[in-house]
Amino acid sequence: MRPNLTIAWLYGTKMNIYGDRGNVMALAQRARWRGIEPEVVEVGIGAAMPDADIYFFGGGQDQEQVAVSRDLSGAKGDALKANVAAGAALLSVCGGYQLLGHEYRPYDRDPLPGIGLFDMVSEAGPERFIGNVVVESFLGELVGFENHSGLTHLGPGLDSLGTVRVGRGNNGKDGTEGAVWRNAIGCYLHGALLPKNPVLADWLIGAGLRHRHGDVSLADLGPLDDTVELAAHRTGVARAVRTR
Ligand code: GLN
Repeated sequence: MRPNLTIAWLYGTKMNIYGDRGNVMALAQRARWRGIEPEVVEVGIGAAMPDADIYFFGGGQDQEQVAVSRDLSGAKGDALKANVAAGAALLSVCGGYQLLGHEYRPYDRDPLPGIGLFDMVSEAGPERFIGNVVVESFLGELVGFENHSGLTHLGPGLDSLGTVRVGRGNNGKDGTEGAVWRNAIGCYLHGALLPKNPVLADWLIGAGLRHRHGDVSLADLGPLDDTVELAAHRTGVARAVRTR
C-alpha cells in the first residue's frame, strides 16, 4: 500500500519567513522517500480549514499576524483545534505559534486573539531575540534560529517542547522553549527547522500517518540515510555554541 498523507500549509504566502517553507518541503520529501504520496494543500485567507493529517503554520511579522488572526477567529480556528484534538499533527513557528495561544499582544497595536489551542499568552517585549538556538527536547537535541520580540508564557498544564541550552526561547527568563499539546508542537525555531532535525520531521510524519491510517507506523516504512541532515544539525549546534 502506498499510504497517502495530507499536509496543510497554513497561510503560506503571509506566514513564511526565515526559511519556514523548508519545513513543508522536508515533510513532503521525507514522506516521498518512504513511498508515501503526500498532498500539500495551501490554506490562505478566506479558505476553509481542511481535515489534514499534518498542519504547518510558519512565522510572520506583526502586520501579517493581524489579518491571519482575524481569519482564524471563529469556525476556522475551531476546526483546526478539533482536528488536532482528534490526533492530527501540527508544527507552528514563531508568529504562527503565537496565534495558537489565547492572545498575542503586539507592541503598538491592539491585542490579537489566538485560537487557544495552546494554553499560553504571548506579548511583544522590549528586546528582539535574534540568534541560534539549541534545545533539549523530549525528542533529544534540536537546533534552529530565533528572531522574535514576542515573549510566550505557558499555562500551568502546558508542556514545553524543551529547555534552552543556547539562545532565549519562549521568553528568555524561564528557560523553556516551545510548547507541546497532543501531536501539536509550537516553537520559535526558524531555519528551516525540520531539514536539520530529522527526528522531529519523522515524529510529525508518524503522527500524521497514525491520524490517517491508524496502524501504519513509520518504522514499517523503513529508515532513511540522514547523513547529510545530521551533518547540518551538528554544524548548526557548533555555530550556536560558538556564537552564543
Ligand atoms: N511578530 C512576532 C514577533 O516578533 C513573530 C515574528 C516571527 O514570526 N519571526 O515575535
